[in-house]
Amino acid sequence: MEKYSMTIGGKQVQAVSTFDVINPASGEAFASVPAGTVADLDAAVAAARAAFPAWSRTPDAERKRLVHALAGLLEANAPALMEQVTKETGKPLNGLNGVGSGMEVGGSIAWTHVTADLELPVEVIQDNDDARIEVHRKPLGVVASITPWNWPLMIAIWHVMPALRAGNTVVIKPSELTPVATLHFVELANTVLPAGVLNVVSAERDSGVGEAVARHPDINKIVFTGSTPTGRRIMESAAGNLKRLTLELGGNDAGIVLPDVDPKGVAAKLFGVTFHNNGQTCACLKRLYVHESIYEELCQELARLAREAVVGDGLLAETQLGPVQNRKQLDYVAALVEDAKARGARVLSGGTPRSGKGYFYEPTVLADVTDGMRVVDEEQFGPILPIIKYADIDEVISRANDNPNGLGGSVWSNDLARASQLALRLECGTAWINEHGAIQPDAPFGGVKQSGIGVEFGHYGLEEYTTIQTLKIMKH
Ligand code: NAD
Repeated sequence: MEKYSMTIGGKQVQAVSTFDVINPASGEAFASVPAGTVADLDAAVAAARAAFPAWSRTPDAERKRLVHALAGLLEANAPALMEQVTKETGKPLNGLNGVGSGMEVGGSIAWTHVTADLELPVEVIQDNDDARIEVHRKPLGVVASITPWNWPLMIAIWHVMPALRAGNTVVIKPSELTPVATLHFVELANTVLPAGVLNVVSAERDSGVGEAVARHPDINKIVFTGSTPTGRRIMESAAGNLKRLTLELGGNDAGIVLPDVDPKGVAAKLFGVTFHNNGQTCACLKRLYVHESIYEELCQELARLAREAVVGDGLLAETQLGPVQNRKQLDYVAALVEDAKARGARVLSGGTPRSGKGYFYEPTVLADVTDGMRVVDEEQFGPILPIIKYADIDEVISRANDNPNGLGGSVWSNDLARASQLALRLECGTAWINEHGAIQPDAPFGGVKQSGIGVEFGHYGLEEYTTIQTLKIMKH
């Protein structure tokens, strides 16, 4: 059994007890991590608070150098981190279209370097004989990061790097399902960062630690990635000291395929953006609306790809799709498919869990699906693609928008100008043309409606870890 520690105030810390982390490919425990308590959280917040004055006054060039150094540590330890991510998430090392733990660690390195190079320049908005007015960006204080289980390391990196770059200190509370790579990364990071600047507390779901983060009077901001119901609860609890919030929540992204598209030509790309990481990515395509003239042909192509996908243990190089990350999610995915079957959906591939050990579910393509079925209306977060037929473009845009989520959306067409006009009518934070879910470290990403508040990445994301101070200097 692998063993890990929390890092609080620069020290490796155990808790009174431990809990096990399950490898979803086997259903068996592979690691033991500290079961942190609210007292451990208090210690971590106190350490972050104590480290804040010095870190926030550290010269900008030095903070930049240290954030680049963190990227170097990720790179030097990439093989171990990849294996940890694969064991805790089930995600393949390589994965469908190269989306696996290699991408998770590689993306973490890339995001860290790009974030290190971002600047927060002073903006001068008036400078005349009367006065000079400058707008300064200052760090907020202690930032808490709460992460989900689907991209545990990369999402922690997305939270931590801009927070540190802007001069904040940080406490991470990783998902109880996937704390391992994060605990390892924070231990590594503390070999270069001053003590207390970056801390991590692992805790079980019912420990009260997540709720205590949201209520904590000494935390100034929470950056949370996870489900919409949890985001809502955090927002309520965070009101006590008016914490700043970035909430990256659930998605139920629609893709709309126009009739001018060649079904054979587009199927592989559509399959990849839907099924990578087994559909367990916030911005995976989750509802596919296809024009009736190409509906049957595209359904059959997608089902063929689903049948051909190599499903297995993510540690095997050839695996494209791993298991569903946890038993509860597997049961949820199975229930959505059963509901769709009962209401007349046509199962073109999959439709059942795999027997044997681990939490495997066959890649599933469903045709003759309609809005109003749970598999369309709810975020599935699993290897399922419901395909919905449409005839009228205005009607399909309003069906795509008729959902509380608003993370991403896409339009697929050879007519880029028309597709762009349609995409701008989608109520979502990012709209793609002939692509879906493709993100990069310099372009803002976030949800509208109930998919979240605020954005991450680039200077827009960095500014969310700051507060504005206006300086007005009178000249007479
Ligand atoms: P979750 O909401 O169940 O848990 C997320 C984290 O919140 C975990 O660390 C958990 O321990 C913690 N938590 C639980 N209850 C809490 C509470 N009351 N107070 C504070 N923290 C609490 O989400 P999940 O199942 O781990 O992740 C899947 C969800 O995340 C999906 O809905 C997915 O769409 C979403 N997600 C969104 C994005 C995005 O960028 N928008 C990215 C990845 C995942």
